[in-house]
Amino acid sequence: MNYKNITIAGSGVLGSQIAFQTAFKGFNVSVYDINNEAIGKAKERITSLKARYQEDLEASIKEVNNAYDRITFYTNLEEAVADADLVIEAIPEVIDIKTNFYKELAKVAPDKTVFATNSSTLLPSQFAEVTGRPEKFLALHFANEIWKNNTGEVMKHPGTNMKYFDEVIAFAKAIGMVPLPLYKEQPGYILNSLLVPLLDAAQSLLVKEVSDVETIDKTWMIGTGAPLGPFAILDVVGITTAYNITLAKAKATGNPEYQKVADVLKKEYIDKGKLGRETGEGFYKYPNPNFMKPDFLKG
Ligand code: NAD
Repeated sequence: MNYKNITIAGSGVLGSQIAFQTAFKGFNVSVYDINNEAIGKAKERITSLKARYQEDLEASIKEVNNAYDRITFYTNLEEAVADADLVIEAIPEVIDIKTNFYKELAKVAPDKTVFATNSSTLLPSQFAEVTGRPEKFLALHFANEIWKNNTGEVMKHPGTNMKYFDEVIAFAKAIGMVPLPLYKEQPGYILNSLLVPLLDAAQSLLVKEVSDVETIDKTWMIGTGAPLGPFAILDVVGITTAYNITLAKAKATGNPEYQKVADVLKKEYIDKGKLGRETGEGFYKYPNPNFMKPDFLKG
């Protein structure tokens, strides 16, 4: 892997983080977004990451300033990718927006450039043809707050050449991620393929009144040694996100159990302002939730 120049397309929540992390690890980064307003917001977001890196990673002021200085900003795609070894796409999760973006990118990117999508829910094979270089296209999926939650899920589609798959795995490692290879396409990658069924099962046990929040979490924590139970995890994800996902599943499947879960989340939590960890209360009260108390697992 001899990548030096990395372009991040889309500089929202994730794009800003990917740009700063990549620059922090010494790569030249160009950031592309659609207009000056979006670039202005990206500059603010990236600037605010400096303090997080100092706090969470004990980075020095010099290190974070040097990282920022390695980033250049563009509203012209052709200029942004002029010498790119890799483009990481982090634009909105909308099929038409991504399709149009890859069509444009295919016209202006140099032959050498590898394309990676950070899409959470869309599969790379949906866009492989419009990239014009399916063999050099794959997914590189990050988790929010990438400098701490450093999973780098690298996923092939059937047409990805292993050479580029291996290169992107090496790149993910070089920017401080733990690379997690997926050799086949999988909706939800590995993490959400494991996590979503767990969270669904916990919510189902609750709304069927089989047991209560704390007992369900306690069972999981004692039984597996995990530091958090499913409801503590849901508080981190945020109850609104959990509600939106469950409601979508209720509509898609017609399964009344999902609707029941959605109703409980809305009535008992969202309507009462209990949105999860960020608002101080969800299934638990923060900053000292019961599951952190020393005797939680004892009785
Ligand atoms: P966001 O809405 O915060 O940012 C999207 C950015 O893309 C904005 O700056 C917007 O101006 C820009 N944009 C819109 N159209 C564009 C175009 N045609 N070309 C270039 N830029 C364009 O979104 P986000 O949360 O950062 O998510 C981006 C991608 O990352 C999605 O595919 C999402 O699934 C994925 N993702 C998000 C998270 C998360 O926690 N937010 C985690 C992992 C992956």
